Amino acid sequence: MISAVREVSVFGDAIAYFNEAAALLDLDPGIRRLLTKPSRQIIFAIPFTRDNGEMEVFTGYRVQYNFARGPAKGGIRFHPGVTLDEVTALAFWMTWKCAVVDLPFGGGKGGVTCDPTTLSKGELERITRRYAAELVEVVGPDKDVPAPDVGTTAQIMAWFMDTYSMHVREHVPGVVTGKPLEIGGSKGRVEATGRGVSLVALAQMHRMGIGTKGAKIVVQGFGNVGSIAAKLFVDAGCTVIAISDVTGAYYNERGIDVAGAIAYAQEHASLDGYRGGERITNEALLELPCDVLVPAALEKQLTIANAADVSAKLIVEGANGPTTPEADHIFAQRGIVVIPDILANAGGVTVSYFEWAQDRAGYFWKESEVNERLADVMLEHYGAVVELAQLRDIPLRTAAYMLAIDRVVTSMRLRGVYA
Ligand code: GLU
Repeated sequence: MISAVREVSVFGDAIAYFNEAAALLDLDPGIRRLLTKPSRQIIFAIPFTRDNGEMEVFTGYRVQYNFARGPAKGGIRFHPGVTLDEVTALAFWMTWKCAVVDLPFGGGKGGVTCDPTTLSKGELERITRRYAAELVEVVGPDKDVPAPDVGTTAQIMAWFMDTYSMHVREHVPGVVTGKPLEIGGSKGRVEATGRGVSLVALAQMHRMGIGTKGAKIVVQGFGNVGSIAAKLFVDAGCTVIAISDVTGAYYNERGIDVAGAIAYAQEHASLDGYRGGERITNEALLELPCDVLVPAALEKQLTIANAADVSAKLIVEGANGPTTPEADHIFAQRGIVVIPDILANAGGVTVSYFEWAQDRAGYFWKESEVNERLADVMLEHYGAVVELAQLRDIPLRTAAYMLAIDRVVTSMRLRGVYA
């Protein structure tokens, strides 16, 4: 049957963005072919015992996309929508994300197709330990360094680190980042992605002449990224008029009490039943008139179906891949500025880099030092992206990809191909 809707894989969308920037870079065709293929994709079964004694089998993935600039780096996602295609796209984006902020890492991503909200703590621990055990030979501080992503936590990183350390018979905190502070985590890591999102958003608002006081902000997704970004927008004097999570969206023209919503979500495990705003649909939330829209949930939220109705002046991608290429072109035509995912949400992996460096040195930094260095990295590279975009008269996304691709290609050229 022929479907009227063009179904493009997430990786297909990601490649489309890459191609737009690659076309402006005059890339060697061989290098271009190499960059559109993952270095390594691993798929494996994860058998584990349910609390009721039954055996269950899930599927685990790890994709190591590119190693030209250093060990693979990227999170582990536990979500029912995890597929090889999605993990590959996410690993591809990590390659450019690490390069755009000039971290000495390649790109990687992993995942398990499961719904962590239906699993007990014991089940999660058994799944995580088996997942880590399957990857012992291919991860490590100089090989591939996982971290949290959607559905995974600092506790899950602790189990990963412990399993790896037990297998190699030495203490290796630098094998994962996003760990609890007590076992080698970094101060400021939990807040880092949301902090980076708010830093670049506020800088771009300034450039566009949008005053922070009372600026209307809409945040889709109220996990680690969305909730912290929302809180920091409020701290800066903005008004967060709507928030959402999987249970729905909540709108309050006078402003959501973000600290109250965070406390509510912590107590009830979601925003379900939250009364600090009128209940609206997730679709309506994305179309609310506002100054800044922050999609901080999953991929493919802003598509050809709703791009013409989005009424934000600025979109700051807290999530990875929230905008499809078709929607992105509509935003460009409509003069809506988009700060792309690979730059906007790079704060998380930047502090992961700080954590990895602290673990290897065995010397830990003050929170103020972490936050200061994070701001330096984000604002320096945001500035470089804006400058290139202006110079070439191209969208910020294309400029970010160009800078990132150029760095990766330079490393590949210097190293050459081992054959
Ligand atoms: N999962 C986060 C991301 O998508 C963080 C990755 C990391 O810290 O390695 O950027």
